[in-house]
This record gives sequence, structure tokens and C-alpha cells, in this order.
Amino acid sequence: MTSLDGPYHRLRVAEVIEETDDAKSIVFEIPDALCDRFVYRAGQFLALRVEVDGHRIVRCYSLASAPEADPRETQHKVTVKRVVDGRASNWINDHVRPGDEVEVMPPTGLFCLRERETPIVLFGGGSGITPIISILKTALRTTSRLIKLVYANRNDRSIIFKDELAALLSANPERIEIVHRLDDVHGFVDAAVVVQEVGVKADADFYICGPGPFMHIVEQGLGDLGIETDRIFIERFETPDTPIETTPVDTSQGRVVMIKLDGKESEVPVGEGETILAAARRAGLEPPFACEEAYCGCCMAKVVEGDVEMLENDGGIDQRQIDDGWILTCQGIVKDRARVEYPD
Ligand SMILES: Cc1cc2nc3c(=O)[nH]c(=O)nc-3n(C[C@H](O)[C@H](O)[C@H](O)COP(=O)(O)OP(=O)(O)OC[C@H]3O[C@@H](n4cnc5c(N)ncnc54)[C@H](O)[C@@H]3O)c2cc1C
Repeated sequence: MTSLDGPYHRLRVAEVIEETDDAKSIVFEIPDALCDRFVYRAGQFLALRVEVDGHRIVRCYSLASAPEADPRETQHKVTVKRVVDGRASNWINDHVRPGDEVEVMPPTGLFCLRERETPIVLFGGGSGITPIISILKTALRTTSRLIKLVYANRNDRSIIFKDELAALLSANPERIEIVHRLDDVHGFVDAAVVVQEVGVKADADFYICGPGPFMHIVEQGLGDLGIETDRIFIERFETPDTPIETTPVDTSQGRVVMIKLDGKESEVPVGEGETILAAARRAGLEPPFACEEAYCGCCMAKVVEGDVEMLENDGGIDQRQIDDGWILTCQGIVKDRARVEYPD
């Protein structure tokens, strides 16, 4: 869809880069008309909508490029690592080619560099390096802060951006320190390793992204060091996985939402305080969503009839879209009756 008021834009793939055996980067070309909409801050992500086996699914991928450091032609690069049995990640790795068009939402996200003078310690695990390298490149260009990266991978072959990191290190040896932790050589990172690697940089800001257990261990290690939580910033790649409500929901107040999704209309009763997303999932529909915390924009739909109140908006939707009737369904509460349409 190319509609300017919709959340998705068809972007041409300029380049596909084989990073490792199981990860590829996709570089998007941004036409002049969309340059303003695709401005971003290091650490933010794009939501891609792809069709896999007849189902359209939306997934978020962090920008591994950095606006201040990379040339315009490669400034919108995401890196997708295969997940075992994962639908979108394998489809993207298998099918996306230069010249293809992919539906992409403008950048969003809150995992961004805070303006401070203290050192920065970055913890990246596997594909979690994507927003981390973006932040690293921006911090190098826009600050004089010392930076340490602790980067964990299964083995040497699975290190994404190995050469790019080596080049950054050799160009800035006085500013950066990079520690590679390989499971097959050093074992898994544990809290003691975190404490040891942070060492005297306990006054730093900490940015963490990686698999759930890795982030948990890093948080534990930082907790052992007494680091205050307001200096710890975390990007979670896993969706919250909120279970679909199975206990009966009281819908006796007669609230109803008509939902148009993938060309099909469904009438869904809504409980007191229940969001449109929750009601849709409870009714067996498969609407797109990711963060469920009002910042990713993946669950956006347009209200075409009735009143819907949005509980929160943490940047997932902009004022122009709100004025055009779009809402975040993870935050949308139906007042009485409403009709919403997910983007075609
Ligand atoms: C803000 C953000 C940024 C992100 N950035 C990146 C990035 O830069 N790079 C990157 O590679 N990823 C990133 N991700 C993760 C990415 O969005 C996807 O979650 C990831 O690619 C997996 O999607 P998938 O469709 O391949 O897997 P899915 O099909 O969603 O499956 C995920 C897992 O669930 C299991 N599963 C699927 N269906 C079922 C079922 N019915 N029952 C039981 N298990 C099931 C699968 O086996 C698989 O292990 C990011 C996520 C977020 C939220």
C-alpha cells in the first residue's frame, strides 16, 4: 500500500548482504518524498509486513545503520537473523532480493542514546547487536564518550558485523573496547562475567539487547554491582507473548467492534476495559502486534465508525495518523460500537 495516510510504505530493496550463515541485512532505498518520514534515531526499528503462506505478518527489525555515520544510500539497513521455525525471519532470508519491494512502517522506538557525558557500556547478544551497533556508531560520531561493547555469540562464524566492528575499533582505538564472548570458547555469559567486564565503568550508561536469558543475566550482573535502573536501557526482541484470554469475558454491556482484517469482516464482542487487540485475539483472529506497549505501531488500525479511546501512545502513532482516524489497537477501548479496519 502506498497511501500516504496508511502506516506502510512500499520500499525498494537496494541491497541484500549475507552477514553470516543465518543472517542477512536488507538495505532499503528511501525515495525523496519519504525522506522526512523515515528520519530516525540510532537504536530505533522498522516494522516490516510480509506475506508468508498466504498470511500477512508484521515483524520489527532494528536499524543497524546510523543516521550520523552511514551514507544516505545505506542509511536504512535492517539485519534479520533466522529463528528456528520462525515465519518472517526465514521468509525474509530466503526470498528478499535486490529490486523487490517490501512494506515498511516509518522508524519508531525508544531504545535511543541518552544525552550524557558518562561512559557507555553496550551488551549485545546475537542479533541483538543491530540496535547496539547503531548506537555505537552514533555515539562515536556525536559524543566523546568512552564505549565498551561486550558481544556474545554462539561461535566465531555467527558474529554479525565482525568486520565492521573491527574497522570501528581500529579507527577509534582510544575510544572503544570490544570484548567478544563466544559460547563455544568461553561458555555462556554469567553475572560474574558481567561484573568483571563492567569493572570500573560502573558509572556508565548501559544498553542491552539480545536473547531473553542473556539480557536477564546482564541485568542480574548490573544489579549485583548496584547500578541504578535509570542507567540501564533494554530492547526486548521477544514480543511480550501476552496469553490470549481464555476465561470468559463479560461482554453483557453490549460493546461490539466490527473488525476488517485481511479482507474479512468479523463482529467481535468486547468486555469492559478490554482492548480491541485483546478482543480480536480472543475471538480467534490473528491481528498484527508486537510491543503491546504503545510504541511500535505494528497493531495500528483505522476507526471508520464509532468512538475508540486510546489509553496510551508512547510514540507508536503520530498526530497526523491520529487525526486521520488511526489508533493503536493494543490501546484501543471501544466506547459502545465501532468499526475498525486493519491496513490493506
Ligand atoms: C523492537 C524489536 C526489534 C527487533 N529487531 C530485530 C533485529 O534487528 N533482528 C532480528 O533478527 N530480529 C529482531 N526482532 C525480532 C523479530 O521481530 C521477530 O520476532 C523474529 O524475527 C522472529 O519472527 P518470526 O516470524 O521469524 O518467528 P515467529 O513465526 O513469530 O516464531 C517465533 C518463535 O515462536 C515459535 N512459534 C511460532 N509459532 C508457534 C506456535 N504456534 N506455537 C509454538 N511456537 C511457535 C517459533 O518456533 C519460533 O521459535 C526484533 C523484535 C522487536 C520487538
